[in-house]
Amino acid sequence: MNLQGKKGLVVGIANEHSIATGCAQAFANAGAELVVTYLNDKSKSYVEPVATVLGAAMLLPLDVQDDQQLDAVFERIASQWGGLDFLLHAVAYCPKDDLHGRVTDCSRAGFAEAMDISCHSFIRMARKAEPLMKNGGSLLTLSYYGAEKVVNHYNIMGPVKAALESSVRYLAADLGPSGIRVNGISPGPLQTRAASGIAHFDELINQARQRAPKRHLVSIEDVGNMATFLVSDAATSVTGDISFVDAGYHVMA
Ligand code: NAD
Repeated sequence: MNLQGKKGLVVGIANEHSIATGCAQAFANAGAELVVTYLNDKSKSYVEPVATVLGAAMLLPLDVQDDQQLDAVFERIASQWGGLDFLLHAVAYCPKDDLHGRVTDCSRAGFAEAMDISCHSFIRMARKAEPLMKNGGSLLTLSYYGAEKVVNHYNIMGPVKAALESSVRYLAADLGPSGIRVNGISPGPLQTRAASGIAHFDELINQARQRAPKRHLVSIEDVGNMATFLVSDAATSVTGDISFVDAGYHVMA
């Protein structure tokens, strides 16, 4: 897979275990130039060494709820690169009480925050990327099987990811005529910082290992390979899709 000459934005690296790190490494290995972002000053010290290993061209602050920071990232890309070929959105958040409670009990504020950070931020990024993708481009986000089926302890993130998956389809329809493709990847469970917020996550890991047809867990490198394909020209006719990278778990009854 070849990403020589392509420029990409990667949002969602927290540390070396992040799915976004696996994707960014695969993009870099395929020859892409990258802009990497970090959430805040606290996370910068974890993201900076990853950005160095990746040889990232720029490292910028981005809390997706901060409109000025979002504007600044895209303005910087416009002034420095003059365009953008792809972006990865690997961002999710839900307040703890709402994440750990029943969907029935999810607060209005918690739902709104989870939706804003985990779903609408992808729509905002698509809107900002569109004018920079004059020659077409590729937008990619990350979902989970809990969007489709009820997964114990995934709770309100299920409806949030369902909205994100639907947004992938509608954005693909909006932006396809401009040559911009929009896709999602749905990986099996991976031990990341975000995953540690989900109660009984070890049960998901054990189930995946035992029940997935391939009988193994997936790695961030596996997700990175799929991500690289999806942002490459090889995937020119693939849009509006959610691709599973879960060792086949989703086909099991
Ligand atoms: P992670 O903790 O490494 O990454 C989550 C990222 O979201 C972090 O970098 C964090 O800084 C960022 N983030 C949270 N709020 C933000 C905000 N307001 N602005 C900007 N960034 C913000 O965990 P991960 O598992 O690599 O998560 C990446 C994506 O993969 C998420 O969308 C997650 O739902 C999805 N996913 C994870 C798994 C899994 O098992 N780990 C499975 C399927 C999908």
